[in-house]
Amino acid sequence: MAGGTDLIIMMRRREVVPRYVIGLKGVPELNFIREEKDGGLIIGAMATSWTIQSSSLVRRRYDFLAKTAADIGSIENLHVSTIGGNLCDGFPCVDFPAPLLTLDAKVKLVSRRGERIIPLDGFYSGYQKTAVEPDELLTEIQIPSHNSHHAGAYIKFHDRHAIDITTTGAGAFLTLDSDGETARDVKIALTTSAPVPLRVKSAEAALRGRKVTEEAIEEAARLASEEASPRTSWRSTAEFRSKLVRVLVRRALQQAWRKAMTAPASDLAGDIWLMHPLDPRIGEKR
Ligand SMILES: Cc1cc2nc3c(=O)[nH]c(=O)nc-3n(C[C@H](O)[C@H](O)[C@H](O)COP(=O)(O)OP(=O)(O)OC[C@H]3O[C@@H](n4cnc5c(N)ncnc54)[C@H](O)[C@@H]3O)c2cc1C
Repeated sequence: MAGGTDLIIMMRRREVVPRYVIGLKGVPELNFIREEKDGGLIIGAMATSWTIQSSSLVRRRYDFLAKTAADIGSIENLHVSTIGGNLCDGFPCVDFPAPLLTLDAKVKLVSRRGERIIPLDGFYSGYQKTAVEPDELLTEIQIPSHNSHHAGAYIKFHDRHAIDITTTGAGAFLTLDSDGETARDVKIALTTSAPVPLRVKSAEAALRGRKVTEEAIEEAARLASEEASPRTSWRSTAEFRSKLVRVLVRRALQQAWRKAMTAPASDLAGDIWLMHPLDPRIGEKR
């Protein structure tokens, strides 16, 4: 148990009935954020959403990740929920995986047998299924350095502006070539759009190496909604989620693009947009 904000609920519902509960709060070595010499960023599994959103290092390097953290539920939830718990619960509706997938993050898993580092892309094998073995702990998240004109954005849609689980979310991280116009690289990932947090690689491929234009972004957004396989739940129909994916991916890419164009060389701020169902932008014509 990290913060317990998911686990306690699952235990109350008897969805999980553990024989023992091992609390990680007393392991200070897991609660840190540091920059590596090569510019990489390492976040300890027990860093809380609050620590991440208020970290000047994260804000300076990847502001969209800080803003994602700032919106993990209520103020109480921010102070106890951890990034490690968010990744390990395996739900496709949680917010940290999508922006971290766009940043090419890796996770370190440790057991008495040793340690292994695996890409977050591949960490999820199915609904609530992760690569973490029963005897393993996730100890840290590693984000490689990004040194050129880049920017990211994560946009989530949820019914209410406070304390609500994400209906659908989209993250994008765009790196521009030195000409300031061509997408050297792009990563796009989705929340609640498949049984697992999902990178939409056909959409990425459509934009990578191309001049970034509104048309190219729209094409990538269309491909993302085709690649997504959302389900119908009491929160939303699959059809509505598919439409959301197209809108949110387009807006995430537009935000990232705007920011990347004005970026100095690195350390760009992204944004998180919260949208209300009554927000007129949701229904806007393309
Ligand atoms: C009111 C409320 C609002 C919320 N809003 C949001 C939201 O907006 N966005 C969002 O993404 N989530 C939200 N959540 C869900 C939850 O708060 C987050 O997923 C949180 O980050 C989970 O972290 P935790 O530390 O509480 O995990 P825990 O509940 O302690 O653990 C979750 C699971 O991960 C395992 N685990 C934890 N840490 C490790 C580790 N280091 N190694 C291996 N396994 C581990 C546990 O065994 C458990 O199975 C909300 C929850 C509540 C109650």
